[in-house]
Amino acid sequence: MHPKIDTMTTNRTFTMLKPDAIENGHMGKIIDMIINAGFQIKAMKYTKLSVAQAQEFYAVHSERPFYGELVEYMTSGPIIAAILEKENAVTDFRNLIGATDPAEAAEGTIRKYYAENKGRNAVHGSDSDENAAIEGEFHFSSSEIF
Ligand code: UDP
Ligand code: MG
Repeated sequence: MHPKIDTMTTNRTFTMLKPDAIENGHMGKIIDMIINAGFQIKAMKYTKLSVAQAQEFYAVHSERPFYGELVEYMTSGPIIAAILEKENAVTDFRNLIGATDPAEAAEGTIRKYYAENKGRNAVHGSDSDENAAIEGEFHFSSSEIF
């Protein structure tokens, strides 16, 4: 029997390699950084967001001035979506990707290396365990998670 304690949520995060990362050919290097940082890939797909999906995914930002541009950018080309597992996945992954604006991102972070600017910033990382679970389920069915 599996233990009753559910550690699955807290050990997982959700990421997208955004259209600029794909366009610029950075996906292999970014996935390599993710694996080298100790994350296990539980699910991964190469896909493209519809406008409705991007609007829903970023609904929390719908009142912000950059929302329209963000939806346009996130639907401008394919993305790679993935569920990642590691202890403290959400926090450790946010540390690995760095600040939203690459000008403020720490040395050695994914955004420092590969983001173009604050909007086209190469990668998404969930900001909480709750959102990691919601975002993972948004993109993957249980039969696609290993
Ligand atoms: N974004 C933007 N302009 C801003 C802030 C954010 O274009 O001033 C975009 C950017 O692509 C960012 C996404 O909206 O990654 C979500 O914003 P959030 O503040 O949640 O940043 P994140 O959690 O991705 O670091
Ligand atoms: Mg965010």
